[in-house]
Amino acid sequence: MNASCEQVNGLLAVKAAIAAAEDDAGRPVGAVTLVAVSKTHDADTIRPTLDAGQRVFGENRVQEAEGKWPALRADFPDLELHLIGPLQSNKAREAVALFDVIESVDRPKVAQALAEEMTRQGRHPACLVQINTGLEEQKAGIAPQQADAFIASCRALGLSIIGLMCIPPVDENPAPHFALLREIARRNGLTVLSMGMSGDYQTAIALGATHVRVGTAIFGSRPKPLAE
Ligand SMILES: *Cc1c(COP(=O)(O)O)cnc(C)c1O
Repeated sequence: MNASCEQVNGLLAVKAAIAAAEDDAGRPVGAVTLVAVSKTHDADTIRPTLDAGQRVFGENRVQEAEGKWPALRADFPDLELHLIGPLQSNKAREAVALFDVIESVDRPKVAQALAEEMTRQGRHPACLVQINTGLEEQKAGIAPQQADAFIASCRALGLSIIGLMCIPPVDENPAPHFALLREIARRNGLTVLSMGMSGDYQTAIALGATHVRVGTAIFGSRPKPLAE
């Protein structure tokens, strides 16, 4: 097996596991969108998964994404790029220009900067609010008890908030975190739930994930761990 096949095999295995989890949960096939997390991997590693039909990708750093995605997008204009990492407000311009979905709206300053850039550029990526369900100090996101007010303030700024994203604490059962995210989404009339990574995406699908963000299970381990 050559290197360019391994990520395609990974992709096919994850897609099969997603279909099985959808079925187990009594959800329709295709209910869950796979966001292939390609951070740290170069364009040559990503391209075979595009050739195999994958179209939705997640990156966590604006500058890294700017370096590899414009050329890939020229060849695959229908791909959809998600920002899944923390955004610095001084990178809002680049983020609005490059990404189709911004999953990591996590503080008022970022929401404000995104709203201004969207007006300036006339480009309106859909947004998710990141919720810090585990109230972890080192992790980005809005505290669950502040979620409703923050979502309302984002909407007032004109952002198109379509859903929520979370990253549960690594050392805990993720299920209660996924259930909490679903409940916050429900009471705010939001339909998109981005939850579940390589280790727990089947659990997330059982609890209603509409998007799972899977990196390692497709592309293999990353050169070095990156901060969330
Ligand atoms: C890296 C990352 C992922 C993918 O994690 P894997 O365990 O490699 O599947 C998902 N979500 C976010 C926010 C990430 O930073």
